[in-house]
Amino acid sequence: MKRTDETETILEISGLKKYFPLREGFFSRSSRFVRAVDGISFSLARKETMALVGESGCGKSTTAKLVLRLIEPTAGTIRFLGRNVLELGGKELLALRREMQIIFQDTFASLNPRKRVREILSQPFRNYRMDTGNLEEKVAEILELVGLSPPAIFLDRHPHELSGGQRQRVGIARALALHPTLIVADEAVSALDVSVKAQILDLMKRLQRQFDLSFLFITHDLAVVRSLADQVAVMYLGLIVERGPVRRVFSNPLHPYTQALLSATPVPNPRLARQKKRMLLKGDVPSPVDPPKGCRFHTRCPFVMSRCREEEPELKEKGDGLVVACFLHE
Ligand code: SF4
Repeated sequence: MKRTDETETILEISGLKKYFPLREGFFSRSSRFVRAVDGISFSLARKETMALVGESGCGKSTTAKLVLRLIEPTAGTIRFLGRNVLELGGKELLALRREMQIIFQDTFASLNPRKRVREILSQPFRNYRMDTGNLEEKVAEILELVGLSPPAIFLDRHPHELSGGQRQRVGIARALALHPTLIVADEAVSALDVSVKAQILDLMKRLQRQFDLSFLFITHDLAVVRSLADQVAVMYLGLIVERGPVRRVFSNPLHPYTQALLSATPVPNPRLARQKKRMLLKGDVPSPVDPPKGCRFHTRCPFVMSRCREEEPELKEKGDGLVVACFLHE
C-alpha cells in the first residue's frame, strides 16, 4: 500500500522511550537503566503493515508492549485513532483496547491449555459483554474465516490437540473476533515451519484486505517483511536507524546496519546467491545500559569515521518517505 495525502493515520508514535531500572542489589535504589526504547517515532496508516526489525534486544518487542499499553512509557506520546492513549483510563482505555489486539509467537503459552477452542474464542465477547446473538454460531463463523473448517471438528479441541499452524489460526481468530483496527503480531510466524508460515502469511494478507486491518509486525525475519509489510523500521539499541517503504529500503538500503541485515538473508536463486556479498558485522550488540557514545552502531560499523564516535546522527529525510540516521548520508 502506497501512502498518499488521503491516507488515514491510525497510530502515531512520537519520542517514545522506555527505561527499565537496573536492580543491582536488594536494598539499592537503582541509578542505572536499561534503555530498551530510547526515543522512537513512526506512524501507521489504516490497511497498512509496518514491520519493526532488528536483532534481539533492539527494543522492538518493548515497543509492541508500549503501543498496547501493557507497560507504561518513560517518555513520549502514543496517539491511536486520534486519541492520546496515555491519557485514557478505565472504560475509555478498555474501549480503545478492543480496537488493538495481539498475536503472540508462543501459541502454547498464549492459549489456555485447559480451555477448548469454543471457550477460547467466546472469551473476547464475554470480556466485553457483547450481545452477539448465537455465540456458538459466531465462533464457528470466525473459525471458518481463519481456515479451520468445518468448525465442528475444532470447537471441542484443546490447544494441545491442534498442530502449530492450527493453534496460530486460533490465535489469529481470537485477535480478529472483536473486529479490531490494529493487530500487533509479535514474531507471530517465527516458530512455524516454512510451508505453514507461507499459509499463515497468506491468511493474514487476506484478512487484512477483507477487514481493512493494520498490522504492526515485530520480526527478525526479513523474508517475512518483504512478503507482508508496506513500511519497515530498522531498530538498533533502542533507536530507529532507517525507516521507509519496504521496496525502497530493500532495493537500496542506506544504513550500514540495514545493509548488513539484508546481506545475511538467503537468496532463493543460486546464481544471485553466488553474486551476493555478505557483510559480516564484528562483535556483539553493546549493552543497552551503557550504549556507545556518538552513533550507537559505531563499534560494529565497517565505515566508521572519527566523527561517528563523538556525535549522534539524527534521522534525515531522503525522499519517498525514507529516513536514515547515518553521517554517510547527510
Ligand atoms: Fe557507521 Fe558512522 Fe553511519 Fe554510524 S554514522 S552507521 S558509525 S558511518
